[in-house]
Amino acid sequence: MTSESTYTPQINPGNPGETSVFSIAFTRDDKSWTEDIDLTSLLQDVLMAESQPASRHGAWLQTAEGLWLLPQLLSWHLREDGTGQSSTTIQACHEGLVPEGCFEFQHAASDVDAATAMRNGFTQWARTDAVALRESARAEVTECMSMTMDFPGKAGHPALRRRVVLGPASHYMATPQAQAACPAAASAESVQDSESDEHGFCPCCLLTKSMDAFRPLLESTGYAAIRLYAARDGDGEIQADCRLNGEDYPPGQVALMDYVKTWPEMGFEFRKQLVVVHSLD
Ligand SMILES: [Zn+2]
Repeated sequence: MTSESTYTPQINPGNPGETSVFSIAFTRDDKSWTEDIDLTSLLQDVLMAESQPASRHGAWLQTAEGLWLLPQLLSWHLREDGTGQSSTTIQACHEGLVPEGCFEFQHAASDVDAATAMRNGFTQWARTDAVALRESARAEVTECMSMTMDFPGKAGHPALRRRVVLGPASHYMATPQAQAACPAAASAESVQDSESDEHGFCPCCLLTKSMDAFRPLLESTGYAAIRLYAARDGDGEIQADCRLNGEDYPPGQVALMDYVKTWPEMGFEFRKQLVVVHSLD
């Protein structure tokens, strides 16, 4: 007989998502109508279309890797021009890795209907964050770049083996240019050596060029889903955003702002990624 798990995922207290099933009422000109939306069903469809089937249990989905997923609505806003903007959250839990769950936000838009906006946000999530999350739940990382780090035991602290899953990175440049390759992409050993930014960029860079800010997360035992976002607009204004398991992580934000200052000014550009750090037995 195998032992049955009694684990039941719970909504993380920090998750601001409100509901998974709702109706939105629309009025335009002399017409009015409602859209009934079941976000769990919508996410399940998106995952199926991305070849990541998941089974449904109430408002939650469960993947083959043992991840539990809960999509929720945060806000919906219809602009004057008829474009709808949605903000949703997806929380991920895993009994062995992150039982209390981590969550991330999806911001998306559509001029078709509300479901299309939310579907767009989920599709983007499925192609980026979901890849890093499921890789973290596998024995071998096969779809992403990854690094394994060993920390020797110190007084009062056991030795640690940590794996860093570098999720697919989004990189947008208004003026694309030929880029020098990140040395780490060619040679995984030199990940931390490169101080100068030749504007090379690979899935290691957002983390490794701000390593000091993330070292405490690498050297601790917990599951760390680190959302990294760094941008500079056409006027040179810098924006950065960093969250740890869904909550703001200010040291990361400060480090990312410094990292942007090393980029050559090339017009609007952003780099965005989810990196997951967790312990290996
Ligand atoms: Zn790199």
